[in-house]
Amino acid sequence: MNINDCCVESASAAITVDAALHKITSQIRPLIRSETLPLKECLGRILGSDIHAPMDIPQHRNSAMDGYALRQANLPDSGTVTLKIIGTSWAGKPFLGKVENDQAVRIFTGAVLPETTDFIVIQEDVKRCGDCIELSPVSATQSYIRYPGDDCGNGQLILTKGKRLAPADIGILATLGISEVRVIQKPRVAFFSTGNELRPLHDQPGPGEIYDSNRYTLYTMLQSLGVDMIDLGVVGDDKKLLIHTLLDTATISDAIISSGGVSVGDADLVKSALDNIGKIEFWKIAIKPGKPLAFGEIKGTPFFGLPGNPVSVIVTFYKIVRPALLLLMGTTPIPPLRLKARCRSPIKKIPGRQEFQRGVVSMDINGDLIVEPAQKQQSHNLSGMVDANCFILLAADCQGIQSGESVEVELIDPPFSFN
Ligand code: AMP
Ligand code: MG
Repeated sequence: MNINDCCVESASAAITVDAALHKITSQIRPLIRSETLPLKECLGRILGSDIHAPMDIPQHRNSAMDGYALRQANLPDSGTVTLKIIGTSWAGKPFLGKVENDQAVRIFTGAVLPETTDFIVIQEDVKRCGDCIELSPVSATQSYIRYPGDDCGNGQLILTKGKRLAPADIGILATLGISEVRVIQKPRVAFFSTGNELRPLHDQPGPGEIYDSNRYTLYTMLQSLGVDMIDLGVVGDDKKLLIHTLLDTATISDAIISSGGVSVGDADLVKSALDNIGKIEFWKIAIKPGKPLAFGEIKGTPFFGLPGNPVSVIVTFYKIVRPALLLLMGTTPIPPLRLKARCRSPIKKIPGRQEFQRGVVSMDINGDLIVEPAQKQQSHNLSGMVDANCFILLAADCQGIQSGESVEVELIDPPFSFN
């Protein structure tokens, strides 16, 4: 019998992705160690305390446009009015005099409004004649004035503890004059590859040997999350060695990740090593790619035994490990954006596991979303992942997709994909 003819794939003892996430997230204890850092070092870091505005932003009434500041009462209802320009208010150098009824002040974007003025006419709407301006009736509804506190009010909660700081957050902190912030310390995440067949990149692989690529994807995925990495290299398929590595590492790290050796072959010893020295919560998830995935703990340190196949490593890290590490880091993971797209090619699927197929989503000439599944969908086909910008979500009971059918896609966040 061809494997594709089989009606339901065996998923015995495998828990659903949601159940796995629920189990993991209920076990993770967010870190509370914090440190104070200068603003420029805070990108991607997790805020350790709420930030309230220590002042109004803006602090003064100022102009949103280049133009003229005057009293609104001087705007003509009909005909024209001429006002004399008595000075200039520059950004950073306000006009300090008093503006009378038949007067105006030249004003530039960001400059403070002179005290007695309450209206800005943009320069495109006036006729300049020497040191006077001629005004025609203009709409009084658009005033081009920025009022104190209209961006942030003094005392207002601006950023909440647990926020992962993005460039706009860094910008608003700088706007408030805050030069350093308290952030949660980075977790120490140890990781290693397992497998006697793995060779380092500068070696020549012998027959049947391969380069250890997983450690590079793992390293960069962890790097992008903003954790401190402990690279333990390759550990051979040797149970004693695995036990030794896991026990040693549990005391110096906040989480441990391995790849390979969690399946059911004779060389798959990670699960049994974990069983000897820690606790296994589960070791099979009904996910494709990535069914064999051991989760447990060693001396209270969470452990993720990822599968060996390179695409499985990325998908399980993205869907399972990343949210768990974000929780550990002290923040709440934001679920990736899901959209509906028309699938341009048929997809074969055996019911049983929830699948995350790799695809390229784009917009057609009508503005509708379309998705093309990657041609190579097997868990060793890293090339199918390289071009992808989304996962095509196929529910466990889905029996395949026909060309033209609507499917749910999940956009892959940078830097997991820059496509
Ligand atoms: P395993 O789960 O250990 O049986 O590994 C499954 C497949 O992934 C095998 O073809 C392995 O050779 C491959 N593999 C395991 N670890 C790595 C790694 N670190 N880099 C690249 N491929 C790997
Ligand atoms: Mg192996």
